[in-house]
Order: sequence, then structure tokens, then C-alpha cells
Amino acid sequence: MVMDRKFNGKLVITGKIKAVTGLHIGAQREVGEIGGIDNPVIKDPVTGLPYIPGSSLKGRLRSLLEILTNSKLDEWKEKYKGLEGYSPGSCREEGRENCGKFFNKRINNGWIHVCPDYQKAYNCPVCRLFGASGDGSNFPSRLIVRDAFLTEEWKRKWEEGQEITEAKIEVGIDRVTSQANPRTNERVVAGTEFNFEIIYTVEDINHWKDDVKNLLTAMALLEDSYLGGSGSRGYGKVKFFFENIEFRKADYYRTGKEEDIIRIDVKDKSVREILSEFDDLFSGVKSALGAE
Ligand SMILES: [Zn+2]
Ligand SMILES: [Zn+2]
Repeated sequence: MVMDRKFNGKLVITGKIKAVTGLHIGAQREVGEIGGIDNPVIKDPVTGLPYIPGSSLKGRLRSLLEILTNSKLDEWKEKYKGLEGYSPGSCREEGRENCGKFFNKRINNGWIHVCPDYQKAYNCPVCRLFGASGDGSNFPSRLIVRDAFLTEEWKRKWEEGQEITEAKIEVGIDRVTSQANPRTNERVVAGTEFNFEIIYTVEDINHWKDDVKNLLTAMALLEDSYLGGSGSRGYGKVKFFFENIEFRKADYYRTGKEEDIIRIDVKDKSVREILSEFDDLFSGVKSALGAE
């Protein structure tokens, strides 16, 4: 297949992401700080305030959609031709990348999914949305996930002296010596809210609906999973509250005109509500694009 990338506008999705429980997205460990926190959260170097890196959020959404796709592989092969030739599971047994299993690429000690070429990625629900850096031709991501910074409300709380992070002691057991091994984790306190922005580029007018639904599905899965570290200890439950979804037509980027924007009112809606009302909410986008 010849590379034939098109541009049919952008969907700009904004809202709040709330840490329902304590949230730990780790920074690079700083060695040798005596009496300090072993495991700090990542912070904006300018303000010193914690934030959610877009790469962390995007990586987690991708991973959850990968797991779902692996589970639905046979069912989805009809719809997504790029999935042909994959069988469920990982290449762990063979220890060899791209040997035909869905989780086909080794990252550190785990296996992830990445389609090896443009054509497969174009027809894969994961790679065409999140991108693929294959051995042959890359498939750039259709999604941009911005860094999520504190909402104005939570910035104000911080200015008024409220603690935004807390130190939590977790006691692990050393497997060799059976000694208790306490560590101090820093985490963002429960209740903290961040602004998120996710931008989806509409390339193929026959893909946008599935792509956006798959994005929403990954967001729904994340709410019942966790973001960041120590999820099995109860950290990292998050919830999305939508604010606005705008479809900016390709023409908008030439005219700057209001008439080239379709606004979808999703204020305070949940992921579930948007999924269940999808066809109604996106009917304007559908007719503007003139395709499914
Ligand atoms: Zn294998
Ligand atoms: Zn893929």
C-alpha cells in the first residue's frame, strides 16, 4: 500500500481527570537523599507541582486497548484486517520478536504489541490510533495526549497551603532475608483534579468512529484499572469528567471561522455516558464528514 495520509479535521477532547485514590506517577529516582522520600512523584520543574505526563496516560490507554484487542482477536479479524496472522498471547515462549503472537515486541521484561509495517498498522485498532514504530515504515499516532496539569481550583488550594502530595510508607518484605523493608512513596492526594486534553486527527473518514470509540473504551477500562504505580496496593484509581468535544473541520485551519467548528456539549458527562450516547452526540460530526 502506498502511504496516502489525509487530513479531515481534528477532534479536541477536554475535561478533568480526577485522582479518586492516591496517585503515584514516579519521577526519575534521586539517589542519596537521606531521610527523604524514596520514590517521588513527577513534578513540573517550573512550578514544582505534580502533573500527569501525557506519555504516561497515553501509554496506559494503549496498553489497556492492547489487552482488549488480544482478547477479541478472532472476533475482530473480520473488521480489522491488520490483525490477520496474529494469534493471541506473547512471543515469550519463543523469546523472539514478531513470531506471530499479538504481543510481539519486547520492552524491558515485558511484551507489547506493535505492528511491523504501515499497512498492518493502518488496519490495526491499536496501532492506527496510538502509532507504530515498526522495522519498516512508521505509522505516526493519530492521538496527541497532552500533559495534564492541576486545575485552577486545585492550584488555588495549593496556594492556600493545602498539601497536594503525601508521603505513604509501604512495607515490602525482602524475599531473601524476610526482613521488612519500608519505603516511602510520595503520592498525589485523593481528590486532586487535573485538566486533560486529547486530540484525535481524523485521517480516514471511515475510521474515525471506531478510533474514537476505541479511545473512549480505553478510558473506561482505565477507570476500572489504575494509572501509575502500586495499583495493586490501591493507588491510581482515576475518573474522567468531560468538558467539551470540538470537531475542527480541515477548513477551520484555513478560515479560522466559527462555522467550521462543531461543538459537542459533553459538560460533566462520564465516559460511559458518552459511549452510550455516541451516535446522538456525534451525529453532527458524522454528517460533516459524510461517512461512518
Ligand atoms: Zn511467539
Ligand atoms: Zn498493531
